[in-house]
Amino acid sequence: MTINEYNFAGKKAIVRVDFNVPIQDGKITDDTRIRGALPTLKLILEKGGALIIMSHMGKPKGKVKPELSLKQIVPAVSEALGVPVQFADDCQKADAQAAALKPGEVLLLENLRYYPEEEGKPVGVEKGTPEYDEAKKAMKASQKEFAKKLASYADCWVMDAFGTAHRKHASTAVIADYFDKNDVMLGLLMEKEVQAVDNVLSNIKRPFVAIMGGSKVSSKIGIIENLLGKVDKLILCGGMTYTFAKAHGGEIGNSIVELDKLDVALGVEKLAAEKGVELVLGTDSVCGDSFSNDANQKVCPSNAIPEGWEGLDAGPKTQEAFKAAIKGAKTILWNGPAGVFEFDNFCAGSRAVGEAVAEATAEGAFSLIGGGDSVACVNKFGLADKVSYISTGGGALLEAIEGKVLPGIAAVKGE
Ligand code: AMP
Repeated sequence: MTINEYNFAGKKAIVRVDFNVPIQDGKITDDTRIRGALPTLKLILEKGGALIIMSHMGKPKGKVKPELSLKQIVPAVSEALGVPVQFADDCQKADAQAAALKPGEVLLLENLRYYPEEEGKPVGVEKGTPEYDEAKKAMKASQKEFAKKLASYADCWVMDAFGTAHRKHASTAVIADYFDKNDVMLGLLMEKEVQAVDNVLSNIKRPFVAIMGGSKVSSKIGIIENLLGKVDKLILCGGMTYTFAKAHGGEIGNSIVELDKLDVALGVEKLAAEKGVELVLGTDSVCGDSFSNDANQKVCPSNAIPEGWEGLDAGPKTQEAFKAAIKGAKTILWNGPAGVFEFDNFCAGSRAVGEAVAEATAEGAFSLIGGGDSVACVNKFGLADKVSYISTGGGALLEAIEGKVLPGIAAVKGE
């Protein structure tokens, strides 16, 4: 069933969204995720349905943490939807409020992760012990009960939280078991995300250039190895540059490095050579004498950084090399910044990458940007409307590109 086909008239829809928005001093600092869910929520209301919206916020780890309460976002959601939003203080005790909802009305449930059952991981028991296995079994059983309760509030379930679709949580997957298969569907945001991944995977126009940045090799090695089987060029940038430089015996000063991943870096280079993929790594870095925006700066070769200095951004030669590698691309995937882009004095490398991606897009490339930090980069440099698609998913996007079936999608498809 698709959301466009479904008849919501007189029905209550429980919708899993990703309202995990950043909040500082009680104020939402970036409402992208709320805006992302609006098309689905508005469509259901327009079609005569009532909405029960559910989400997590942050990592309360099964405990009630007032600073992670979704109550804080009620005014923002209400303004975005243009209707009042009721709030259920306890997502497991919302029966009466859900039952009383009329078409066009909206109820937001409190943070699902106030309950450990949402994630289904035992709390307070050490992993690897027999107690843990027992606790896990018990937790899986109570996770089902938790999901069943959520399902009991509504006639249908709409999955629209791409950012958590790679997790088999109560609200993102398990809940599907308690609805008829004709009453579960993807939301519009999920449909768009799936389509964007599909554009990259099944409809690859070449050359395909992937740009992987960020702080560490370890968190991205799975996707890097996977991409080597698909791309024509792979740009590796950001903090992982120094693990590669170190692996070749370079001097990297105080730069971020994963000393236990030197062999992994060499393995990536070997695999790239075997697959005939052009690997593009930074050769020079803009270094700082401390990890701060106001640090003194100098440009050094990325494998000859003196003690007391650390590589914080791609250097001028590297920026040119990255731009040249991106030029002419027809499919682009970008995940992770090319430096500490949060510091205005060390964001030139990430800006150069973003601008090159925008230029290639203007010349006909399909560019997919994913992961919180690359999205923040694109926004910071005013390039959001100059790329093809900005994904709301970080880990979920990478797992989908790796070809993994996301539990949130599998649940909807009945797999
Ligand atoms: P990730 O979460 O692995 O995608 O990493 C994103 C973070 O990597 C951003 O917060 C960047 O500031 C950081 N980063 C990028 N380049 C460097 C670098 N050269 N040194 C330290 N951190 C970096």
